Amino acid sequence: MAAQRTAGHRLAGQAGQPGHKYVYAFAEGNKDLKDLLGGKGANLAEMTNLGLPVPPGFTITTEACQAYLATGREPDGLAAQIADHLAALERAMGRRLGDPQDPLLVSVRSGAKFSMPGMMETVLNVGLNDRSVVGLAAQAGGGPGGAATGRDAGGAADGAGPDGAASGGGERFAWDSYRRLIQMFGKTVCEVPGEEFEHALDAAKRAKGVTSDLDLTADDLRELVGAYKKVFATHTGRDFPQDPREQLDLAIRAVFGSWNAERAVLYRRQERIPADLGTAVNVVAMVFGNLGPDSGTGVAFTRDPATGNQGIYGDYLANAQGEDVVAGIRNTVPLQELARIDRRSYDHLLDFMARLERHYRDLCDIEFTIERGKLWMLQTRVGKRTAAAAFVIAGQLVDEGLIDLDEALHRVTGAQLAQLMFPRFQLDHGIDAVATGVGASPGAASGKVVFTSARAVELAGEGEPVILVRRETNPDDLNGMIAARGILTSRGGKTSHAAVVARGMGKTCVSGADEIDVNVPQRRFTVAGQTVTEGDVVSVDGTTGKVYLGEVPVMPSEVVRYFEGDVDPERSDDALVRAVHRIMTHADARRRLAVRTNADTGADAARARRFGAEGIGLCRTEHMFLGDRRELVERLILARTDTERADALAALLPLQRADFEEIFREMAGQPVTVRLIDPPLHEFLPPLEQLAVDVAVAQERGEDVAREEALLAAVRRMHEENPMLGLRGVRLGLVIPGLFAMQVRAITEAAVTVTRAGSVARPEIMVPLVGAVQELETVRAEAEKIIAEVVGESGVEVLIGTMIEVPRAALTAGQIAEAAQFFSFGTNDLTQMGWGFSRDDVEGAFFWRYLELGIFGISPFESIDRDGVGRLVRIAAEEGRAARPDLKLGICGEHGGDPDSVHFFHDVGLDYVSCSPFRVPVARLEAGRAVVSSEGSDSR
Ligand code: PEP
Ligand code: MG
Repeated sequence: MAAQRTAGHRLAGQAGQPGHKYVYAFAEGNKDLKDLLGGKGANLAEMTNLGLPVPPGFTITTEACQAYLATGREPDGLAAQIADHLAALERAMGRRLGDPQDPLLVSVRSGAKFSMPGMMETVLNVGLNDRSVVGLAAQAGGGPGGAATGRDAGGAADGAGPDGAASGGGERFAWDSYRRLIQMFGKTVCEVPGEEFEHALDAAKRAKGVTSDLDLTADDLRELVGAYKKVFATHTGRDFPQDPREQLDLAIRAVFGSWNAERAVLYRRQERIPADLGTAVNVVAMVFGNLGPDSGTGVAFTRDPATGNQGIYGDYLANAQGEDVVAGIRNTVPLQELARIDRRSYDHLLDFMARLERHYRDLCDIEFTIERGKLWMLQTRVGKRTAAAAFVIAGQLVDEGLIDLDEALHRVTGAQLAQLMFPRFQLDHGIDAVATGVGASPGAASGKVVFTSARAVELAGEGEPVILVRRETNPDDLNGMIAARGILTSRGGKTSHAAVVARGMGKTCVSGADEIDVNVPQRRFTVAGQTVTEGDVVSVDGTTGKVYLGEVPVMPSEVVRYFEGDVDPERSDDALVRAVHRIMTHADARRRLAVRTNADTGADAARARRFGAEGIGLCRTEHMFLGDRRELVERLILARTDTERADALAALLPLQRADFEEIFREMAGQPVTVRLIDPPLHEFLPPLEQLAVDVAVAQERGEDVAREEALLAAVRRMHEENPMLGLRGVRLGLVIPGLFAMQVRAITEAAVTVTRAGSVARPEIMVPLVGAVQELETVRAEAEKIIAEVVGESGVEVLIGTMIEVPRAALTAGQIAEAAQFFSFGTNDLTQMGWGFSRDDVEGAFFWRYLELGIFGISPFESIDRDGVGRLVRIAAEEGRAARPDLKLGICGEHGGDPDSVHFFHDVGLDYVSCSPFRVPVARLEAGRAVVSSEGSDSR
């Protein structure tokens, strides 16, 4: 999720002071005044100043809205300024608002700084009343002609019917416009329930024996206006206002108020739009696309917003108003058809589109209306686009010389790149989801359901795609997770074990799908009244969190094939791959932060390197104690004498050494930070309950259970109420003699072996969970002796440093730096301990409520909490560097691959970020973007 959008710099000027300007004619604004005029208003002003045909109008500022919302009344001076601008508008149009002979009508439209589509209100046709409706009918080509229907006029668009306006459609049009005003005004301004108007409309159609609005004649609509006015009066206790200026003022107030409509509030929260911006209000002369076959309305894009391809994209609907397009009453035609219907307007439109794109130097989307052969531009903005289109368009604009590569880099995001890297389900697959959980690790996967790690490995070994389904996962499921295409759990949130490990692997995962009832012993789950057993096929979408029964077809990512080196970007005929390559190359040239990876196998290291990693920032060693090595760990824990312990460690040494050799070989020449063992040792022992049952059963059978009993006693002895705050990290190294020494020896020996074989190994030994310099000094003294002994003449250099993941370490970083050659921020633990949140428990338990209340806008485990945890990072970086200027600084928590966090780490001045292999390209891109945004650019 994006970080909170900023409100922009606070506006200069003294809102509230006498004479303060609250209303801008279009000619007075420009596109850079979005804070004040909203997006729509600023762009209408820009188009006006470009000389494009924008219906005249004016914009009431967001400041006026803010003042209204704060005090419940319009700020002083607003009414008079509106009167002045209205008079100017009337002069420009040569008509007066609501004039009985020839009325000017206006639309009153919302328009905030950030687009909030459909969330706020709009009132059209303001200025119509019992008298001006007659004038409008006459001007629109009326005459009695009460029998003409909308269909006659609509059909004319196909050349089949009579000219709507000339045949008396003017009257129908006027009454239809009036009834729309009463309906919209009633709903929006006076909160009359919308269905009351719908009922009246249905009754009118029933009385006529027709099913479509288009079959109602002018007389029918005149009667309908009467019915609507009754509905209005019943619900509001007053008659529909006949004074045009009163209509206008009430409509403006309603638009102000709609900023705080429930759906708008919700939308802002989701999109992280600040709540205090307020909306501007645009008052614009109405133009009509429903005046006959030579009128119409449409939308256009200057390039394809789905793919970025150049061409003409848009829809047109003849003889209609914008709301008809949205309502889907009639089918639109492709914009190209307009060339046949009205060549002149079409040519103008294409010319304006080209001009807008050159001017904005970006894809624009446009709304337009043609009124009797005259083209009017109603809106433009830099258009939304898919992730693929964002890259492709940025590349094209560089080719066209409209933007430079810095600007192209600025215009794409890591989140977009991440989207492009996951396989996805084909669009329009038409299958309904049976459950929805948390989209924990994006992507799309289909496969046979399995419930155990062993079965996952077995079936995958036979070449079957599998989905591992568990209530929740634990480190024992690792092999199954590696073997599976996707992971589905019924419990846990975005930082559950399943989610974190799956993200690390770049594997699709849906977690916490609690509609699913998983029964592992019986190898089945139930959902929505259906039972799914082992071997049945399911599909999971890790982006949306949706779960489907059966197979949904999946498409692989071409962008990943490119990163993997399977596609030559110079020769590819895929515009997306070429654009990604070009922008990534520029990001690499620009970035100051190095990007490393978190990897603990040779395979992960190799992949990360292909993805551009420049070393390993975190090699967790605990996975090296699992599987068939568990028994050795048990021997270590159960050792009663020094000799027994030394034997167990001696057996582990060669295994660890081999692991490290593989990693050093894969990362030849690049630094590799190996973290000494971190988790509490009892995590490597069987669970207490299981062990107790096993011992009881074995005793019952009269078997020899001495070993199991000893294990059970050890598990009981080592039980901790808060293991995350217990015997783990450096504390283990200090209380279990020889444990860290064995690891240090294995790392150094592996480095020497690899270096002697001709590669360059650059090990960095990292001590976890240090809170006091004395802890580090003790470990370091022992490690240095071993290193000196092993390194000998080999030339291998081994650095010793620490994680900064305990708040006390951050606050005493100056002292700790005396004993450390590098710091790596463990922002997972730093967040956990900084907030006092158990990361395994809180997301599922109450984060939803915190998000709802806005206590934070995004989980602090996902994106760095700049104010709190980030401050600890900043203090430690500054004090660490002050004590040791050549201190290397990195970050290896999950935040290392989060776009917003990467910008923060750039600002703090770290040397590198480290993240899971799959996120390495995202971090490279964002590290480049961080430089471009911190330097700013005149061209933006
Ligand atoms: C951290 O705490 O940020 C970290 C990288 O360590 P782990 O997640 O393994 O505790
Ligand atoms: Mg940690």
